[in-house]
Amino acid sequence: MLLIYCPYCEEDRSELEFRHGGDAHIVRPTNMADISDEEFEEFFFLRDNPKGVIYERWRHIHGCGRFFNAARDTVSDRFLASYKTGEPKPALSGASPASAQLAEPPAQIDETTEGTAK
Ligand SMILES: [Zn+2]
Repeated sequence: MLLIYCPYCEEDRSELEFRHGGDAHIVRPTNMADISDEEFEEFFFLRDNPKGVIYERWRHIHGCGRFFNAARDTVSDRFLASYKTGEPKPALSGASPASAQLAEPPAQIDETTEGTAK
């Protein structure tokens, strides 16, 4: 069974307690009424599908209920880091995405790009 670390509960919990919420760090355009259809399509529908590290939003739906972000390797399905919503992407070290490790925990909070769930 896959274990996922919830940064709010501060413990590993079963994957059955979580729900995937799509890509993390998607920034909503500030001028939504002025953007073209192509720009809206890019923002709303198009996502990367990388082979390697991806940053995703997750929700601890059967736990604290809060949203958080996680870095996951799509090759190994291994979670590399979990961090609170509003925090920047953690710095991951390692030559290949499959062997990436969390270098240091995130220190800054960037609330301009994401809100916080309570
Ligand atoms: Zn939790």
